[in-house]
Amino acid sequence: MAQEYDLVILGGGTGGYVAAIRASQLGLKTAIVEKGKLGGTCLHRGCIPSKALLRSAEVYATAKHSDNFGVKINGVELDFEKVQSRKDGIVEQLHKGVQHLMKQGKIDVYEGIGRILGPSIFSPMPGTISVEMNNGEENEMLIPKNVIVATGSRPRSLPGLDIDGEYVLSSDEALSLEQLPKSIIIVGGGVIGIEWASMLSDFDVEVTVVEYADKIVPTEDHEISKEMQRLMKKKGVKIVTGAKVLPESLQKGDGTVTIKAEHKGEEKSFSAEKILVSVGRQANVEGIGIENTDIKVEKGFVEVNDFFQTKESHIYAIGDVIGGLQLAHVASHEGITAVEHLANEKPQSIDYSLISKCIYSNPEIASVGMTEQEAKDKGFELKIGKFSFRAIGKALVYGESDGFVKIIADKDTDDILGVHMIGPHVTDMISEAGLARVLDATPWEIGHTIHPHPSLSEAIGEAALAVDGKAIHS
Ligand code: FAD
Repeated sequence: MAQEYDLVILGGGTGGYVAAIRASQLGLKTAIVEKGKLGGTCLHRGCIPSKALLRSAEVYATAKHSDNFGVKINGVELDFEKVQSRKDGIVEQLHKGVQHLMKQGKIDVYEGIGRILGPSIFSPMPGTISVEMNNGEENEMLIPKNVIVATGSRPRSLPGLDIDGEYVLSSDEALSLEQLPKSIIIVGGGVIGIEWASMLSDFDVEVTVVEYADKIVPTEDHEISKEMQRLMKKKGVKIVTGAKVLPESLQKGDGTVTIKAEHKGEEKSFSAEKILVSVGRQANVEGIGIENTDIKVEKGFVEVNDFFQTKESHIYAIGDVIGGLQLAHVASHEGITAVEHLANEKPQSIDYSLISKCIYSNPEIASVGMTEQEAKDKGFELKIGKFSFRAIGKALVYGESDGFVKIIADKDTDDILGVHMIGPHVTDMISEAGLARVLDATPWEIGHTIHPHPSLSEAIGEAALAVDGKAIHS
């Protein structure tokens, strides 16, 4: 049977379900087609489960070193089954929350695989959605005025380094390990790789990170990346940078996997119980009927304009499937902007330079705006303020005083070009810098915002004062 809608959204991940809620707020008759579970990667295979595991790892590491706080705990033990069931419980609770929000917004959810059809008896324009229902019932036919493609992404591997779920894992398999391996090689030292390196190392797994670039977290400011490398090494993580993995060298069996990498002109061999491949994600553009439309796919990602319209102006695309910053909060904001555009609400386009990026390792990294190198490459004359957590009382109280806040400003205009942080709870602190950039605040204005004492946020105030050489505690 055919159903008519103002909007049908293909994919119920963070991008898709948030777009649906905004559409329902605007009075649009809306449906979501989801082949797996509402909440998508972020809720089931990404942000939330990985952060739940990271938190358990942090508690375990703190308990092991509780002597530092004058607290003696004998026989600290890890119950990994409980760690996993806690994580699953959090995911399930949030999953129920998303299901409830769909009901509350009167959003129809079709559980099945959606596909865009070309012009048909239902519509002269491409965009009718056929849904192959998961429950095996007859295909549903949805006739929307507008479509949003929000089909997300999946882990990428290297040719020859196939994910087998036993020896070679992606983050998907790693999240549901029943037991921790004794050792692991992490191929790729970007955001996901470093979160896993930090977590597994805190869980006492022997970790080796093999990274192709000459530094880990290579898109971060160079000083942040250098500090992270130092702190990971301090944890016991082995890091090999400038190393090109040779996938054809993969050997596995008897509980060991070995791989070689080209490093400084030599072949180096690495062995462990498992390999985790974290070399990026590829967009889900296959099997969704793009060939029935004029939608363009460029370098594997759906091409869109500033308001997320594809070449078919009534079909939008948002989130990981369009590439760029593959982050949950980016996907949801793109979804809101697309819905407001199609509903003629005249939204502003997104300024990606105002978006905060976070890494939830221990210690954490957070940033907004340009790195020092990017600002220099753009020709800015810079003034930079830096402040270490070592001089922040609350960081010492927490026993977490590694790291710093760095603020990069334009010497001529006082504009804040970039803010970079590494240290305790910085993922919760970066929003002050984000707001400062949205409001066009200067370092002087941040520095003269009175930060509570003792608080970690004092490091932001001091770094802002340090831009003009006026930090108090340095
Ligand atoms: P997805 O969440 O991938 O959702 C797409 C949905 O579409 C899926 O549910 C899929 O089943 C469905 N779908 C696909 N094809 C079809 C079809 N034909 N028919 C019906 N349904 C279909 N981001 C952060 O901001 N913070 C983090 O801390 C963070 N941590 C991460 C940790 C890991 C390990 C990973 C892998 C990712 C992490 N991310 C994080 C990234 C974040 O998960 C993604 O950016 C976000 O999920 C993208 O949302 P999306 O809606 O575009 O796609």
